[in-house]
Amino acid sequence: MIDQPYAYQRRELTEPDWRRFPGWADVTVAQWESAQWQRAHCVKNLRQLRQVAGPGLSEAFCADLERDQRERATMSMLVPPQMVNTMVPTAAPGEPGFTDAFYADPVRRYMIPVFSDRRADWPSHPYAARDSLHEAEMWAVEGLTHRYPTKVLAELLPTCPQYCGHCTRMDLVGNPTPTIGKHKFGQGRDDRLAAMIAYLKATPGVRDVVVSGGDVANLPWPRLEAFVTDLLDVENIRDIRLATKALMGMPQHWLGDEVRAGMERLGARARERGVSIAIHTHVNAAQSVTPLVARAAQAMLDTGIRDVRNQGVLLRGVNDSAEALLDLSFALLDEAKIMPYYLYMCDMIPGSEHWRLSLAEAQHLQHAIMGYLPGFATPRIVCDVPYVGKRWVHQVSRYDTDRGISYWTKNYRTGIEAGDELALSREYPYYDPIYLLPSHGQRWWRDRDRDRAPELTLVP
Ligand code: SF4
Repeated sequence: MIDQPYAYQRRELTEPDWRRFPGWADVTVAQWESAQWQRAHCVKNLRQLRQVAGPGLSEAFCADLERDQRERATMSMLVPPQMVNTMVPTAAPGEPGFTDAFYADPVRRYMIPVFSDRRADWPSHPYAARDSLHEAEMWAVEGLTHRYPTKVLAELLPTCPQYCGHCTRMDLVGNPTPTIGKHKFGQGRDDRLAAMIAYLKATPGVRDVVVSGGDVANLPWPRLEAFVTDLLDVENIRDIRLATKALMGMPQHWLGDEVRAGMERLGARARERGVSIAIHTHVNAAQSVTPLVARAAQAMLDTGIRDVRNQGVLLRGVNDSAEALLDLSFALLDEAKIMPYYLYMCDMIPGSEHWRLSLAEAQHLQHAIMGYLPGFATPRIVCDVPYVGKRWVHQVSRYDTDRGISYWTKNYRTGIEAGDELALSREYPYYDPIYLLPSHGQRWWRDRDRDRAPELTLVP
């Protein structure tokens, strides 16, 4: 055997035993596998986390979490039992060292962020912003972002079964937090969805719709099925992707009878029409891929849809090593038949600096994961550049590593640039975390930003 930087090894999936948590000691398999039970027992606040974990979680951790919720969090807390159960999967809260392991756990780090996780020097980049990708600016009709020439993003609803601390759509998604108010859709849901369908019928150049939110798992099934059926009747639509982190966060939802039967109807209709439907999920750590997740993915593939793909997010402390990314990709591909597809660099939202990697780090990781997976399943690490869109990390046009500013170009106009002569010749900047820069680069930012407060703006 040749010694390689990454040693591939097939690993069987395991469902951690939820009964190790004092609050779930008596929960049966039937309860655990019920989506209704999972939704009713999501952890929504510190009190509920304490009830689940019991006294094994230290007071210091609880205070750290409470402070983050009060002063920094951009997302409210909502963690399904399925996700809590994948944190520290082999130790119980009463065991020595549990709190330390909980602090260090990759899933905990992005689902239950605490104050001490964040950077004290630069909690936010000076150019961090709500809606950092300017999606709302590019709404063709409310909730329908038309950024790329042939594809659109439909934000059907502003909620999910789980809230991720780093959510890009923190502007819109979830409940308000003490520091962040949320944007509210102006129109009622049915009117919005009808306007989206009307726009797509009137815009034959669009062939691809990402049906998202939020998470489509939170839309009542009949409403989601009706919308996708309407999409299937739009002559120009050839690809439909349903975005749902819940395939991993609450696989019980996708295993439910109503949802499976409905997906079968949609799959059959799509085949008749020659349209591809795929599910796009969001898994960031190998330990999140459990047998239940694999069952849900298989159930979806059995409905005849084209694929189940993963779009993870590259996050420091969660998956910022070649080993973590390859372990994740192999768990998805080998054991759950989920296609590793994209890894997004974490977007520049307020409070995200401790999660973000520099472009150079992302380029290094892309290089380090090449050659192990089949080419079709090697995830591309992408930077979602504001006003540009996704770019592979090696597509950068110029890179000032002293100031941590990368410059990008593009080859199409977004929906708001119809008359912009310079859109295709301009360079668009993206920014590395400042604390990673050499000292003179950090000084440059400090001098420039001395009088400017980080953009953790309060919005009513
Ligand atoms: S599931 Fe997606 S939309 Fe929902 S909170 Fe997480 S990142 Fe945001």
